[in-house]
Amino acid sequence: MKTNRSTLAFGLALLGAAVSVVAAAPKELPIPPATEILAKLRPGHPRLLASESDFARLKERVATDPQLKEWHAKLRAEGQRLLDQPVSKYEIPDGLRLLSTSRRVLDRQQTLGLLYRLDGDRRYVERAWKELEAAAQFPDWNPRHFLDTAEMTHAFAIGYDWLYDQWTDDQRPVLRRAIVEKGLKLGAACHRGGTSYGWWTKSEHNWNQVCNGGIGMGALAVADLEPELAGEFLNAALKSLQLPMRRFAPDGAWDEGPGYWNYATSYNVVFLAALETALGTDFGLSQIPGFAEAGMFPIYATGPLGKTFNYADGGEGTIRAPQMFWLARKFDRPAYAAYQRKVASADPLDLLWLAPDGAGKTDLPLDRHFREADVVTFRSAWEDRNALFVGFKAGDNKANHSNLDLGSFVLDALGVRWVVDLGADNYNLPGYFGGQRWTYYRLRAEGHNTALINPGLEPDQDPKAAARITKFESRPDRAFAIADLSPAYAKQARQVKRGIAVLDRRQVLVQDEIESDQPMEVWWFLHTPAEITVSEDGRSATLTRDNQRLVARMLSPDGARFAVMNAQPLPTSPQPEKQARNEGIRKLAIHATDAKDLKLAVLLLPLREGERPADPPPGLTALSAW
Ligand SMILES: [Zn+2]
Repeated sequence: MKTNRSTLAFGLALLGAAVSVVAAAPKELPIPPATEILAKLRPGHPRLLASESDFARLKERVATDPQLKEWHAKLRAEGQRLLDQPVSKYEIPDGLRLLSTSRRVLDRQQTLGLLYRLDGDRRYVERAWKELEAAAQFPDWNPRHFLDTAEMTHAFAIGYDWLYDQWTDDQRPVLRRAIVEKGLKLGAACHRGGTSYGWWTKSEHNWNQVCNGGIGMGALAVADLEPELAGEFLNAALKSLQLPMRRFAPDGAWDEGPGYWNYATSYNVVFLAALETALGTDFGLSQIPGFAEAGMFPIYATGPLGKTFNYADGGEGTIRAPQMFWLARKFDRPAYAAYQRKVASADPLDLLWLAPDGAGKTDLPLDRHFREADVVTFRSAWEDRNALFVGFKAGDNKANHSNLDLGSFVLDALGVRWVVDLGADNYNLPGYFGGQRWTYYRLRAEGHNTALINPGLEPDQDPKAAARITKFESRPDRAFAIADLSPAYAKQARQVKRGIAVLDRRQVLVQDEIESDQPMEVWWFLHTPAEITVSEDGRSATLTRDNQRLVARMLSPDGARFAVMNAQPLPTSPQPEKQARNEGIRKLAIHATDAKDLKLAVLLLPLREGERPADPPPGLTALSAW
């Protein structure tokens, strides 16, 4: 790897300036015309994600591999349960999204289809038909929220293709017509332009992968009988999909956060995998720089409790991602497979893609800086529930699904998540994705574990700001990163920097340097589900949770005191109705007024039973000397 990179750099240097200009612009992969794409189509079915012989091989492995056997049993239990479940209905519970219906139909097609392939039990086919027959009669698949259309098309593509030989001559056209009329035609229209719902074709985030991937599955399923439409769509999709795929460079991180990493990569991988099985090639898309690294992101963004560093809109729940197996095989990365094997919940794609995991050993470095997304994680150990873990970010407030969370962090230790990100609020709140977005506490800087300067009604970080991690070092005794947050607070301060250091893999120093020509009002916040007790002098606070303790000690500035607050907007902040109340979460806070050159430093020390804080605390040095 190193050799390759330095060779490349050397080559570019020799070739001179003209080449650097070309190299700077992301290269678009050439995509052949529709007829050439379709000329590669494998005749017959199944051809999506697996062939007849792939399924036959899986059936043999399921009989002998203990892991597959276990998942197969779980999948069977789910299949049995499904036999008695009512079919999905056309339901738009929030007035906008059919999405949970689309996903349910997809889950059921994958489960029932794979079970039929493994067990040969016709009841699965009959149940799958009932589900498809009902959804084929829906008035539409809700194209105004196009994810719903794409996921339903994906569901039909799998149902049609995996059970192709089981459908009668009357059933096949029903399924094909639904794919074409309710999915593929609309997807092609999106790429032609002029629809009100086709904006995703130019987007660089999860919508692109899901919509191109879902409709793409439909196109691959019917390409032999609907060549014109399928060819047109695939040609356009293979060009469009490169936009979000380039966002994985250079290190595989995703600026929409871990939750959307999962959604985006799931469809990205399903589509590439189906291109390979149906056409024998992904036209080079999997080689787009950064994509091979994508599996590193959930590994590092997950702490010792299985909770993610859930920046942007997203929960902290464990990422279960069968695509990790596919990525592990594709790029020979046993670590990706080891990750997924530990968290898998017997998804049909887990069975299909299970990959060797190198005996499950993790010998990856403890710390990692994901460039571009500018996310850093530190930990004291892998495979230890009690390990110390810190996720810290700079990044771009313009990213899709972003929160105003530049400089924020989470912290796990001793089996507790002490410092939390509250995650997304309800997507159906008024203007959540529009003009009111930055009025909601959970999306504002004040709802995060970062600084607040001269707060008021306005967004409390610049929503257009991007901030960089300017320094990152990883040593056993001292690992740290520094974020230059100045762009986020350009209106309020001359310079804002935050450094977070993990000392001896045991305690965490959070140090802020905030400078302004005008006196500032500054708040420092840390959100926690723990009980907080502040010492009499206000200089330390003890957080208690699950019989564990974490002590916060204020090292700077002199004279300031810790306070405890609810996780609620400041009185001067917007107070939108109906937002989450964040009950059970408290804030440890520091408030400074009339500050011009403020150095805030807090030491966070998880304490095992009977353990006392080391005295004295480490001396402070300026961030410029870190
Ligand atoms: Zn957040």
